[in-house]
Amino acid sequence: MAASGRLGTFRLPPLPTIRELIKLFRLRALKQLSQNFLLDLRLTDKIVRQAGNLRHAHVYEVGPGPGGITRSILNAGVAELLVVEKDIRFIPGLQMLSDAAPGKLRIVHGDVLTFKVENAFPESLRRQWEDDPPDVHIIGNLPFSVSTPLIIKWLENMSRRDGPFTFGRTQMTLTFQKEVAERLTASTGSKQRSRLSVMAQYLCHVQQVLTIPGRAFVPKPEVDVGVVHFTPLTQPQIEQPFKLVEKVVLNAFQFRRKYCHRGLSMLFPKAQRLESTGKLLELADVDPTLRPSKLSVSHFKSLCDVYRKMCDEDPHLFAYNFRDELRQLATKTLKGKNTKERATH
Ligand code: SAM
Repeated sequence: MAASGRLGTFRLPPLPTIRELIKLFRLRALKQLSQNFLLDLRLTDKIVRQAGNLRHAHVYEVGPGPGGITRSILNAGVAELLVVEKDIRFIPGLQMLSDAAPGKLRIVHGDVLTFKVENAFPESLRRQWEDDPPDVHIIGNLPFSVSTPLIIKWLENMSRRDGPFTFGRTQMTLTFQKEVAERLTASTGSKQRSRLSVMAQYLCHVQQVLTIPGRAFVPKPEVDVGVVHFTPLTQPQIEQPFKLVEKVVLNAFQFRRKYCHRGLSMLFPKAQRLESTGKLLELADVDPTLRPSKLSVSHFKSLCDVYRKMCDEDPHLFAYNFRDELRQLATKTLKGKNTKERATH
């Protein structure tokens, strides 16, 4: 039986190296697309191992490029790998990989920001949210300019249990600029604690599993890279709509160096700011003199719950944006100044 298990293990046949492939298809990295490639397959194997056991899994790889990580995923014995690549120059090289792994690799020339993975894998893979994570994984080494907006989008999907999370608690293993990886995983009180830390951690278990030096990429980026693994929590730590949590967190971190009441006060129109901020902090039982970085996810839970009640009581409150109020004030002042000037001429 052990022998048949071994026979079932898939390995790619000998292929040109990634470096040779890049030469063959003239795949010069495009600076405007922030392309940095991983050529060392031992390193791509190491990244892919961070995703866990991929045997018989369905994997969605974002931004495969010349296919280093793609090869490692295929060698991990997956049932199916779906790759979405925006740059058409990579498609022939990926096609070569697909020919070497018959029936395993599906290639889509498209944009990960709009691609709907929920329609791409069989419904039979779906699990209940409370069950163990499904056999669906997302893996990718994307340009930093894409990975940050993408993770915000996926966190919102996660909170609604749609998109890639229609399958259940789909796990993700993604690369980020090291500084962003540190922000995603920063604990309460640490220097890197930020909006991203709270938004990621109220929804998932987030762990930086690997750091890759910039010199491992071709061409070498300015910074080192962190590999981050996300597993959605069975129970989010804050049970309010994503947009509401985002608004509270965004405001709280608005003035990082000031006491938290300063940023939180901007949730309220000027006329009621003092009173409403006091009420919010008192009902949420949060010390107004804590710095934003000292606020835990449980502090944010209380703040979001109280703010939600306040929004339910005042239907205009959620739509309030202090920047709009500032803009209106500036326009009014300018108009007043112009009228005065015209009167004096
Ligand atoms: N995964 C490869 C590796 O590790 O060597 C390539 C990494 S390179 C940093 C990022 C890849 O993502 C490039 O191939 C780029 O063309 C692709 N990409 C960038 N934006 C994308 C998007 N919006 N949708 C799909 N692919 C994208």
